[in-house]
Amino acid sequence: MLITLKNILDIAESKNMAVAAFNVTSLEGILAVIEAAQEEDTPVILQFANIAHGKYIPLETIGKVMVMMADESKVPVCVHLDHGDNFDEIKRALDLGFTSVMYDGSALPFSENVANTRYVTSLANEYGASIEAELGAMGAEGDNENILGEYTDPEAAKLFVGETGIDALAASFGTVHGIYKSEPKLDFERIEKIRESTGIPVVMHGGSGISDADFRKCIDCGVRKINFYTYAAKYAGDAVRQMVESTSGNIYSHDILVSLRQSMIKTYKDAIRIFKNRQSF
Ligand SMILES: [Zn+2]
Repeated sequence: MLITLKNILDIAESKNMAVAAFNVTSLEGILAVIEAAQEEDTPVILQFANIAHGKYIPLETIGKVMVMMADESKVPVCVHLDHGDNFDEIKRALDLGFTSVMYDGSALPFSENVANTRYVTSLANEYGASIEAELGAMGAEGDNENILGEYTDPEAAKLFVGETGIDALAASFGTVHGIYKSEPKLDFERIEKIRESTGIPVVMHGGSGISDADFRKCIDCGVRKINFYTYAAKYAGDAVRQMVESTSGNIYSHDILVSLRQSMIKTYKDAIRIFKNRQSF
């Protein structure tokens, strides 16, 4: 069942949980997300970051499959464009039937970010889709330690949400995209303040490498969507390496795809269980 981000976040809100948002780059990834969500009987977000992964598969190709698989799923699934940074790409995703888009104007000055986000909100609303936007700057993976971004200011966030009418806010409070090089130190109080001042769900980017206890604390503070990709991709690569090393004789491409998919299903199920935050369906 295909549903919007707004609707899936309403479910998360009513259950004090976060919905897992897994980035996919292949058919195996999509199949793994849907299978994991169905086995856990839990809503899930299938997302594609064209800006990072468009080089592996075109938006139009993977997007059609994402929408079809979400539609046929037994659990509610939102199909979301991650980190859309231009209007053309966002419109293409909406034309494909995505039920949610992210506009990332976080690198722009505040007023420009507001103006562009407001435009994307009106565009998404025309399609009956939801919108996530970002204020502050997410950290990045450094060579030896995490590079911290610019933390989101709760008062600026209140103004931003009021001016743009978005459904969810990607906020910066200590998480980092990619692999953490030093232990993450999250500002939980900031999440609570942002949730309180904006009145809308908070999105965590950079969910790979956070401890289970910290995930739960973030959820209790108001995080309702957790983006998770890097570790699932890494563990799937590790699984293929192990399979290759322990196999003598021929290895066929389909064996590699099965190995990838089984590993991703396990990682996704583990993440979904933590993000459910002790809730059951
Ligand atoms: Zn992100």
